[in-house]
Amino acid sequence: MKAVPITIARGDGIGPEIMAATLRILKAADAKLITEEIEIGEKAYLAGNTSGISAEDWKSLRRTRVLLKGPITTPQGGGYKSLNVTIRKTLGLFANVRPCVSYHPFVITKHPAMNVVVIRENEEDTYAGIEHQQTDDVVQCLKLISRPGCERICRYAFEYAVANNRRKVTCLTKDNIMKLTDGLFHKVFNEIAAEYPTIENEHLIVDIGTARLATTPEKFEVIVTPNLYGDIISDVVAEMTGSVGMAGSANIGSNFAMFEAIHGSAPTIAGQGIANPSGLLHSAVMMLVHIGQTECAALIHNAWLRTIEDGVHTTEISSEAHTTMRVGTEVFATAIIERLGQVPQTLPVVTYEAARATFHVEVPKRAPAEKKLVGVDVFIHQPNIAPEELAHKLERVSGDGLQIKLITNRGVKVWPGGFPETFCTDHWRCRFRKTSTNGYAVTHDHILRLLRRINEEGLDFIKTENLCTLNGEPAFSLGQGE
Ligand code: NAD
Repeated sequence: MKAVPITIARGDGIGPEIMAATLRILKAADAKLITEEIEIGEKAYLAGNTSGISAEDWKSLRRTRVLLKGPITTPQGGGYKSLNVTIRKTLGLFANVRPCVSYHPFVITKHPAMNVVVIRENEEDTYAGIEHQQTDDVVQCLKLISRPGCERICRYAFEYAVANNRRKVTCLTKDNIMKLTDGLFHKVFNEIAAEYPTIENEHLIVDIGTARLATTPEKFEVIVTPNLYGDIISDVVAEMTGSVGMAGSANIGSNFAMFEAIHGSAPTIAGQGIANPSGLLHSAVMMLVHIGQTECAALIHNAWLRTIEDGVHTTEISSEAHTTMRVGTEVFATAIIERLGQVPQTLPVVTYEAARATFHVEVPKRAPAEKKLVGVDVFIHQPNIAPEELAHKLERVSGDGLQIKLITNRGVKVWPGGFPETFCTDHWRCRFRKTSTNGYAVTHDHILRLLRRINEEGLDFIKTENLCTLNGEPAFSLGQGE
């Protein structure tokens, strides 16, 4: 078998220790790899690269297209951007795959029968990093969800289920509240689920879904969910197996892939030689499967399972009842190497089929929808004003095709017909709609002229959102009573 070039980054904190152990196991298992090393994380940040990676190191990533990465420490403050988010978004790593498995009875867990894979959308949602302070009182974070993004991640989840003999995919969203953003994710999930009749599908609202996951994880198999929920849920699920130190993850894109443990750089135990290398090792196993070295992946995975069964445990997973040897990082790695070629006796033996290892998901191109402008939401910064007084000013600027119809404050209708008890900030969403249903089309010029009149009225407009219909359907959420 031809050796495959990969890039490795040891990272910060416990990163160098767990990477050394992982590389030693990969070598002993005769993984066919040519490694290029890059330096990312704290040192790169402090050397002046605010993204945590130098231009030269990007070249290595673009050459090998595969990164095995240790955890990194993001310095607090100072405009440092999260390197993980930067790498995921720059390289288009849209799927974050996190298998979380219980190893009962060898590792203590409240959930002995758990074997869940969390597939988290990795590029969109509130992680777009578009935030603004709009007024003295109000800051906002834009939650961006795209149809191609939903199509790719939902299709990936079903393809993953097929390839890995999973029976069910569960979608978690909050579309009872976020009807457009999470609503799109749910809608696309349903569309794609219909193409996989052999895989059971379900949707749960993320709050009750997470509660059920925390109490009965054995009822779940594959979970697909937007970025933020997936971030939180996958840590919870990993910890439920007994330790966050055991789970690995794959960040998959069309042309690149990055493999890393779920946990962080654990600075409080760094340098002590006690960190569990299992999370990074499981990531390396996922990497071997990704590059087609499935036999080597199974060899390492089975030796690891046997080591756990034999009671050779790092401190954080050790217990009176099940540990025969409490060991540090290096001895744990040596124990795995000694067991290469052995398989577990109680836990299921792992096999990986080369033909099922990788799959591609395509996103179809769509014709643009027919778009019609029907109004505009103008956001206004105005302290110390009653809704009626603001409405009075906005009625004065209405006309010329656009009429004030609704004012909300933090999403609550305050005019017409608000309650005096409603607490109001200095941030007002003012909805202008087309004055009559026929006779003219709203244009950008109508909106520009309206903004000029609002400015002349002495009101501080801070942003606008056009109100459109797409193929005749409203492309905006309706206010109360609209
Ligand atoms: P953490 O995951 O580093 O640690 C959480 C807890 O788990 C700690 O008690 C730690 O000792 C323990 N732990 C984690 N990994 C372990 C292992 N392999 N073996 C034994 N115990 C382990 O989370 P944190 O403390 O919130 O974050 C520390 C730093 O890591 C922060 O700078 C954070 O930004 C960074 N971080 C990086 C990544 C990444 O690079 N992918 C992910 C999460 C956090």
